[in-house]
Amino acid sequence: MSNVSPQLMQRIRQDVQSMHAYAIQDSVGMVKLDAMENPHRLPADLQKALGERLGALALNRYPDGRVNDLRHALAQHAGMPEGFDIMLGNGSDELISLLAMACDVPGASILAPLPGFVMYAMSAQLQGLAFHGVPLTADFELDEAAMLAAIDQHKPSIVYLAYPNNPTGSLWNDDTIEKIVLAQGAQGGLVVMDEAYQPFASKSYMDRITRHTHVLLMRTLSKFGLAGVRLGYMVGPKALVAEIDKVRPPYNISVLNYECALFALEHAEVFAAQAKDLREQRTRLLQALAALPGVTPFPSEANMILARVPDAAQTFEGMKAHKVLVKNVSKMHPLLSNCLRLTVGTATENDQLLAALKASL
Ligand code: PMP
Repeated sequence: MSNVSPQLMQRIRQDVQSMHAYAIQDSVGMVKLDAMENPHRLPADLQKALGERLGALALNRYPDGRVNDLRHALAQHAGMPEGFDIMLGNGSDELISLLAMACDVPGASILAPLPGFVMYAMSAQLQGLAFHGVPLTADFELDEAAMLAAIDQHKPSIVYLAYPNNPTGSLWNDDTIEKIVLAQGAQGGLVVMDEAYQPFASKSYMDRITRHTHVLLMRTLSKFGLAGVRLGYMVGPKALVAEIDKVRPPYNISVLNYECALFALEHAEVFAAQAKDLREQRTRLLQALAALPGVTPFPSEANMILARVPDAAQTFEGMKAHKVLVKNVSKMHPLLSNCLRLTVGTATENDQLLAALKASL
């Protein structure tokens, strides 16, 4: 393959050329505990039933009205209130991009606490919007005064609150959330509560969403157990969702995506049992990590645990040599120095993780 010619390169945005692509680690042959996936597969009988259902689909046709069956099934599954609507994305990543696109008015900006999910900043950058990151406190709580001051100063179009947060696993203080939501509403901006990790959390904002007309609640089936399917959804007041939905590419949810998602929702109890198992595994892993000299795990309401170790780079490489892949987030933000993000796996995987960690400290 020849290189892209210099002339052609001039047609590609300078800021894009200097960007790094979203990094996906090579995980071949590894115990994969780097991306908050549900480690459980569908039981064999369900794999077979799904295979038959997918085999019978009319893949020669564009996705059809059955996508609305999925919207209804998700609305019911999530307990969407009356007067609200639901929009689907090819993963919540797509919804985050579409939101930046829909809100691209002159001077618009996006604000989120840091460290946080990278796509909030990346979507802003790609859309040419400013991004304002507000550091969390040292114990990974929202810095209420700093958040309110930043909202007042920048008047962002969107404030993202991941609830729980990635990579810290934190659930924010309810009073602080409400103050941020009110401040953001008062200056005419949106709040997005990103509940990607809802299957593992003790609370959801869904029961508070009717209090406001400027809050969107985003979820995904990725952590539920369908990361390979790519299906995110966003719930919000009907009129607001109708506007944002206009930027969605036609047919963004494939026939395969929606049929898999519908099938999964018909068997939601299987996924609920898997999430319960992972919550129990999280408790066990937290206790085991806390007992390791030099390791400081932080409390988590997600299917990941952030842990500080004496030398994250060395431990990460050591674990990799033991065929256990986690994520070294030390360089993501100064607050994360020497931190590794460990996805909660099956009991066996967690044993492998603990053994590799012990051997690599
Ligand atoms: N929100 C948060 C907080 C996440 O951590 C992630 C992915 N890790 C996403 C959204 C994206 O999820 P999806 O797979 O639905 O694109």
